[in-house]
Amino acid sequence: MNPLHSRKINIEKIERSKYDLIIIGGGVTGAGIALDAVSRGLQVLLVEKGDFASGTSSKSTKLIHGGLRYLKQFEISLVREVGRERAIVHKLCPHLVVPEKMLLPLYEDGSFGKFATSLGLWVYDFLADVEGDDKRLMLNKEETLEQEPLLKKEKLTGGGFYAEYRTDDARLTIEIIKTARQLGADVLNYVEATSFLYNKNGQVNGIEVKDHLFDNNFKVKSDTVVSAAGPWVDELREKDGSLSKKRLFLSKGVHIVVPHERFPVKNALYFDVPDGRMIFAIPRWNVTYIGTTDTPYSGDKNRVLAKEEDVKYLMDACNSMFPEIKLEKKDLSSTWAGLRPLIYEEDKNASEMSRKDEIFKSKNGLISIAGGKLTGYRKMAERTVDVVIENLKEVHSFENFKACKTDQIPIGRKPLKNMEEVHQCKAEIANLISEHFPNAAIVADYLVANYGKEAFDIVNGFPEGQIDQWELIKAEIDFCVENEMTFLPLDFLNRRSGRLYFDLDVTGPYIDQIVAYFAEIFGWNETTLQQQKELVAQTIKDAKVFD
Ligand SMILES: Cc1cc2nc3c(=O)[nH]c(=O)nc-3n(C[C@H](O)[C@H](O)[C@H](O)COP(=O)(O)OP(=O)(O)OC[C@H]3O[C@@H](n4cnc5c(N)ncnc54)[C@H](O)[C@@H]3O)c2cc1C
Repeated sequence: MNPLHSRKINIEKIERSKYDLIIIGGGVTGAGIALDAVSRGLQVLLVEKGDFASGTSSKSTKLIHGGLRYLKQFEISLVREVGRERAIVHKLCPHLVVPEKMLLPLYEDGSFGKFATSLGLWVYDFLADVEGDDKRLMLNKEETLEQEPLLKKEKLTGGGFYAEYRTDDARLTIEIIKTARQLGADVLNYVEATSFLYNKNGQVNGIEVKDHLFDNNFKVKSDTVVSAAGPWVDELREKDGSLSKKRLFLSKGVHIVVPHERFPVKNALYFDVPDGRMIFAIPRWNVTYIGTTDTPYSGDKNRVLAKEEDVKYLMDACNSMFPEIKLEKKDLSSTWAGLRPLIYEEDKNASEMSRKDEIFKSKNGLISIAGGKLTGYRKMAERTVDVVIENLKEVHSFENFKACKTDQIPIGRKPLKNMEEVHQCKAEIANLISEHFPNAAIVADYLVANYGKEAFDIVNGFPEGQIDQWELIKAEIDFCVENEMTFLPLDFLNRRSGRLYFDLDVTGPYIDQIVAYFAEIFGWNETTLQQQKELVAQTIKDAKVFD
């Protein structure tokens, strides 16, 4: 059956339903709230105006981190909370939240002195309950250069290794959404909340939506509505007539992507920039990505682009810390840019503003959550659902809502239990595909890092005969369409597979085939096919602003 038919049937059911909670926004915050709420027994609907994670939640630095820099700003409770959350999210989803040592090179005139760093990293480990081999390790100059021979040698005094976790923000969001769906949440992408519905007491009791795939409007009823719309939170507060006092401050963050052979760092690094800020360089398969900037933003929220000056800033920062690499624009393979939805604080610049989250409740009952970090999504969800439940207690006669238990719910439909299982899964997949791919271990690593144990479903879907890159892409698309509400080529290229940013050299030659394959699956006419081709071409052009 064309997947759009089952979507239609699903929407008809949703229109007839009444929910305890509607969530607006399918980024990591909305996803976390959906999972928390459905696991506490609430009837939940989540609507996302674009694809899941198409806002900030696919454009971060992709770290589940304790936020070392917040220690510098003395945000102790934030460091403690996100630090502890890292370990929980790793346990719940080990294939997607992977421990990674971060190297902090230290210089005579740098942000951190050697003694202060040693002490700071000790405090950081203590706050985040870091144990065993993961505890900080201080290195002397020679040991630091052994790790990273390309670092600037002048004034280098040593380095510090500390524990972080790397992730894929979009995949994490999608896996959380899949888990919520499995527990009974209704979820729709490409459905935008356009206005609120109110009861006779002026309390919000539903939303009117526009379905961008079927070009259709409908209404849905609910006792509570949460806006987890990230950078769009204030727009929805305005629609509710409740945009007052605290507001969002949008800060743009840009990353650049370079082939790993052009910037061959062995470790993830967090290093000084001449203007006093710090940025990351993170190796990932065939690339190294570098970010981020932190500048005020007031342009189009739906199309955030890196500018020449952002790219230059990041390249200069790399060239200053790694003088031998001499990065030039022609070396870059892509860029991405996202918006931090921060809570505005007077007299502070973008870098200094707190990353804390905040919940606003309007007099009409609309609950909005903004700020925060990818890393803290689970705790943000818990706090939001606590507020939702307080609201529901006013309208429901019963009070038997369950307590939050998301720290016990593995993420994903076929969760792997620990790193040992992740490694075993990669080895088994590599073995299964070894006759098709000379670099089977790398392909297996990619498949399991993205799809976890469900990589087996992709590999088992291979047709008879020799499998090449195109057959692999097709099997991935089939899986994503069937299991991950994937409707458009960019859903696949960007949020499901990450191929657009991290493997464009290999995927690029297949773009036309990919779009044509979607046309075949969904039965598009020539106009839609051309529109989608142009959209993909435009997105690739946007990612290559430096060309
Ligand atoms: C450059 C950068 C680097 C970062 N790095 C890290 C990091 O390494 N680690 C970390 O922990 N955090 C990091 N963050 C922060 C983190 O990415 C964000 O806090 C998080 O992704 C925000 O998620 P969200 O769900 O609140 O917002 P979003 O992901 O933006 O989701 C909101 C969603 O709401 C949808 N929406 C809006 N209006 C409507 C409507 N009317 N109807 C339906 N849907 C609607 C949007 O389409 C969007 O998908 C970074 C942020 C940036 C910008």
